[in-house]
Amino acid sequence: MSSLFNTAKHSTERRLIPIKARTVQPVLSVVVPFFNEQAVLPEFHRRLTRVLDALPDLCEIIYVDDGSSDQGLLVVQHFPTSSSYVRCVALSRNFGKEAAMSAGLEQARGEAVILIDADLQDPPECIPQMLEVWRSGVDVVNMKRSKRHGESWFKRQSAALFYKLLNRLAAQNIPENVGDFRLLSARVVQHINALPERNRYMKGLLGWPGFTQQTLLFERDARFCGESKWNYLKLLGLAMDGFTSFSIRPLRLATLAGALTGALALLFGAFIVVKTLVLGEPVSGYPTMMVAMLGLAGVQLLAIGLLGEYIGRIFVEVKGRPLYLVRSQIEIAPASSVKNQPASLEVVS
Ligand code: UDP
Ligand code: MG
Repeated sequence: MSSLFNTAKHSTERRLIPIKARTVQPVLSVVVPFFNEQAVLPEFHRRLTRVLDALPDLCEIIYVDDGSSDQGLLVVQHFPTSSSYVRCVALSRNFGKEAAMSAGLEQARGEAVILIDADLQDPPECIPQMLEVWRSGVDVVNMKRSKRHGESWFKRQSAALFYKLLNRLAAQNIPENVGDFRLLSARVVQHINALPERNRYMKGLLGWPGFTQQTLLFERDARFCGESKWNYLKLLGLAMDGFTSFSIRPLRLATLAGALTGALALLFGAFIVVKTLVLGEPVSGYPTMMVAMLGLAGVQLLAIGLLGEYIGRIFVEVKGRPLYLVRSQIEIAPASSVKNQPASLEVVS
């Protein structure tokens, strides 16, 4: 860890004022949610600031520490001054990536906002191209993965299947292979921030406001280091959030399955009555009964489980708890000479 603190000398060059005192609006906000990414953060910040420093526009980087248990927050606090505002919002515990992104979007004040992962799977070098597309009048720049390096065959296939299924079920088109790495215009961010729901399947929500959208292709790198925070169980939960937030068709399918089995049961019942009348019935039919019973019980349990998925989410919505809680915030002001910005300040609140 000692190398992490080599930058401490920079903090002596800063002064403190409240965040609210800042009046300059950045052109671009880059929102970076992270959870236990201390090892990658310095390299991520180096690559990101190299890209942002080369832009003529004032930028801000908003790190959201999603309740990391490592030293990630300290690492960010000791980043050297760059040409951008660097803010770090630390949540009071791990609320999950969707909540951390929501926190970042609420903090962002840029005319354009980019969401990017901290693990360098989404290359910061794509940012100038995304800005160029935004400048041509596009509100949402989706970044589609043309290749997914470092991901298993099973993960790629299950992701493809999920998107196919989701698009079959959802009323709104949710672009395949587009993750959270996107650019959103300020008005789109404003609409997303205004959405009241707590079940936030961001890959769906980010496209929900609509407006003009364009998709760029990029090759998704493997993780710089460390492990993905998503195991298959968590991914299944996220997939269920996707299905239930964007479609009520599964409920309709349950109704259809019920209607179909009901109709089949009626037909089968009629057949048995006729068969008994014509051929008589010795005491048999145990296998038929078992198959019918188990089949029907299976369909019923499935339908009840499906209802439960929706009711569970209604329960979460009704409670109306906040999406996240903020523990602390800091801000590192840009170097005063850079991009003609007034000298100011690091803030702790
Ligand atoms: N992340 C987060 N909160 C969490 C889990 C993940 O903020 O509870 C962050 C993580 O640090 C990374 C991004 O979300 O910056 C993507 O996570 P990860 O790389 O684990 O997901 P994958 O790329 O494997 O889908
Ligand atoms: Mg990742």
